[in-house]
Amino acid sequence: MHLSDKIYVAGHQGLMGSALVRGLMALGHNNLLLRSHDQLDLTDQHAVQDFFAEERPAYVFLAAAKVGGILANSKYPADFISKNLLIQTHVIDTAYLTKVTRLLFLGSSCIYPKHAPQPLKEEYLLSGPLEPSNRSYAVAKISGIEMCSSYNKQYATHFLAAMPTNLYGPGDRYDLHDSHVVPALIRKMHEAKISGADQVVVWGSGKPRREFLYSDDAAEACIFLMNLPESEFGTLVNASTVFPIINIGCGEDLAIMEVARIIAETVGFKGSIRCDRSKPDGTPRKLLDVTRLRRLGWSPRTPFRDGLVRTYSDFKMQQNRVGESHVVTR
Ligand code: GDP
Repeated sequence: MHLSDKIYVAGHQGLMGSALVRGLMALGHNNLLLRSHDQLDLTDQHAVQDFFAEERPAYVFLAAAKVGGILANSKYPADFISKNLLIQTHVIDTAYLTKVTRLLFLGSSCIYPKHAPQPLKEEYLLSGPLEPSNRSYAVAKISGIEMCSSYNKQYATHFLAAMPTNLYGPGDRYDLHDSHVVPALIRKMHEAKISGADQVVVWGSGKPRREFLYSDDAAEACIFLMNLPESEFGTLVNASTVFPIINIGCGEDLAIMEVARIIAETVGFKGSIRCDRSKPDGTPRKLLDVTRLRRLGWSPRTPFRDGLVRTYSDFKMQQNRVGESHVVTR
């Protein structure tokens, strides 16, 4: 990507998209195309087609999606499948119609079967049943991968699907019910510290294991992939590859109870941590095999504790902006 190339970051206000914008701008890219949801509704096919016809982006990072934590996925499965199918179908199809040079479609590690061997290799996709709690989201993302694959085969497009592990970082949604575990626990522990509560509740048994990647590292990996020389990018999206996908992770995971303890230390919460086993555990483990990405020459730079310190600062800044009593939820 040249610094003046037109690059569309779909979903630039989200956790992944905002990190992509920071990463691209830090490198000096000066022709970013950004549209908020109010300016461009990606579930509206005509709006997407008009936008691409007018702006003609050369590169697309497709980070726009309806996302949420384990309970949000169980509560709104219809939204998760319908919105994501619409967004990705419109953007991927229109990218083909307007001859986008390269597109990177962002998925998630929940696309892999619930009981697949660990660490999860790219070729395990569609080798077994999915975790039920986020199946509608996973099926939508798998459809997006299949779209990239099918368009590459039929139309020789260069559409790659990147599967990041669980992400955390600045600009996340710190919602107690619908967000992912890291932002939810940052908020719970912070509020417990401020109110002097002596206990924080962690959902489930605390035993599931998850891998976490700082959002700016994930963005750096995406930009690295988009900039691969044609020989390497072409091999990843080649019509003869089974799926044009690549995992993005750090290759290490932690039990949720360990995560809770590290967040407590970061936030300065000194009380006890209790498990609420009435809440779901979800999939027991989701550790990505990152051999493919490492071989290409990328590995993450931010240790979990350092990323948490930065994320907690971001949380406090969000709080200061809107007052102690009202945390922004985006
Ligand atoms: P998942 O990776 O798709 O399961 O997404 P989450 O980030 O929502 O949850 C990861 C794990 O953390 C699950 O086992 C949850 O039960 C557990 N967990 C513990 N406390 C919380 C919490 O307060 N919020 C969320 N979202 N998950 C929690």
